[in-house]
Amino acid sequence: MTTPVRSASRHHKRPRGEGQWALGYREPLNKNEELKKNDDGLNVRQRIIDIYAKRGFDSIDPADLRGRFRWYGLYTQRRPGIDGGKTAVLEPEELDDRYFMLRIRIDGGRLTVDQLRTIADVSRRYARGTADITDRQNIQLHWVEIESVPAIWEALERVGLDTTEACGDTPRVIIGCPLAGIDADEVIDASPQIADIRSRYIGDKAFSNLPRKFKSAVSGCPAHCTVHEINDVAFVGVVNEDGERGYDLWVGGGLSTNPMLAKRLGVFVAPERVHEVWAGVAGIFRDYGYRRLRHRARLKFLVNDWGVERFREVLEREYLGYALPEGPAPAPPRGGRRDHVGVHRQKDGNFYVGFAPKVGRLDADRLDRIADIAERYGSRRVHTTTEQKMVILDIAPDKVDDIVADLEAADLPVHPSTFRRQTMACTGIEYCKLAIVETKATASRLIDELERRLPGFAEPLTINVNGCPNSCARIQTADIGLKGQLVVDEDGRQVEGFQIHLGGSLGVNSGFGRKVRGLKTTAKALPDYVERVVRNYEKQRAEGETFAE
Ligand code: SF4
Repeated sequence: MTTPVRSASRHHKRPRGEGQWALGYREPLNKNEELKKNDDGLNVRQRIIDIYAKRGFDSIDPADLRGRFRWYGLYTQRRPGIDGGKTAVLEPEELDDRYFMLRIRIDGGRLTVDQLRTIADVSRRYARGTADITDRQNIQLHWVEIESVPAIWEALERVGLDTTEACGDTPRVIIGCPLAGIDADEVIDASPQIADIRSRYIGDKAFSNLPRKFKSAVSGCPAHCTVHEINDVAFVGVVNEDGERGYDLWVGGGLSTNPMLAKRLGVFVAPERVHEVWAGVAGIFRDYGYRRLRHRARLKFLVNDWGVERFREVLEREYLGYALPEGPAPAPPRGGRRDHVGVHRQKDGNFYVGFAPKVGRLDADRLDRIADIAERYGSRRVHTTTEQKMVILDIAPDKVDDIVADLEAADLPVHPSTFRRQTMACTGIEYCKLAIVETKATASRLIDELERRLPGFAEPLTINVNGCPNSCARIQTADIGLKGQLVVDEDGRQVEGFQIHLGGSLGVNSGFGRKVRGLKTTAKALPDYVERVVRNYEKQRAEGETFAE
């Protein structure tokens, strides 16, 4: 049911000169805007197939290489051997390797066993066997050569996967609960809405030139696993006062520098309207988003300046043509952890089994092994989570013990330590051109050390390791957030280290971790530092008190 549109909008005020298209600022305002205006990022696909893959790396137009390639999930890797101190001083071309990272988008984290095997095969043939699960449910390959890209796309597309708009100023992967449709406690199964948005708008030129990236989440997960608070747009499952199931709409969340939590618009979105409301929010971002300064080009800045009332008014009046009904806030997240690790019952009486690859790092052989294990126990579905973990679905009750044993034997623990379960790491200096420090190996060593030193620790505790201030692994929302930077060690040498943020959390008491003034550690001393923090927490915590409290 719709209600009449409310009072006239106040947004036709004097233009503010932030590069908003809707206010007439259509001229290119910086290099990124110029690049997008000159040619849509989606057009690069045909050039890759027809020209670059045939003629090789040196034939690639620099504007495509460092710009439009992202529209298909391709970034040049960091040239090996360049230390973090050079990140800010070298020109982009000096940092570029001749190999690419390729991000495969996995909307809603939904993968079949066949798709998993295809990714393993592609990785083995074209990516030196690499495969990292990201905290937005994607899988990233490394060491890809431009000559291989058309064959990779063909292989992926044969099984319904692709890399379209996996990066770039576009609607990135739509995250969703990996248990959509099977969790006995879910508020609503969001998978039809994710599929709907995906099929209508991904790869559509109406949304392929946004001011910057646009992150979406649609979920009815009772544990709120899709971190709706830090997405540009999020639909969170609710039941309204008439008992109808639908979504509460959140906009303007984001981390990186100037982190902001998303704000509720207070409306109820019926499932069949989700796609048009998504297009309305994305449209506002496209038309009113700030394009002049790259660091202010995320939706959160517009939401912050407008406030929720004005945002809602513009959405309803200019983009939907009808008013949305008021709606309730989501119920607090189900107790316990937000991830889906462990063994849990599905609504159909089968079980799902979540397990923890270490900091999301896998490889082709292990992807195949996971597919083998899933199939051996009758499952055709292996989904990715937003915490760099995986879940095998549809396991019959009498097979649970055996699959758990097989996964544990493959170093894919279903009952991992807190440290293994709740530590995430971004890509870091191994491949990322923005990185200042190494992350994956550092975080792996940290997990090993903490498991050895604190074997009985079982409380929830998130540790997020980032290689630079960009927060791809969500530093500000972790109990212990580690931001990579160079620090001075006790001998006065500049070495890799981390700035510490403490006490971040999402959920009932959402809040960003506090940067502890002056508190830094070298990468080498990191295990000592975290051990001290954990021991202090154990000593001081009251019964039931979380780390953030
Ligand atoms: Fe790269 Fe920084 Fe993101 Fe890590 S946080 S992946 S280092 S940009």
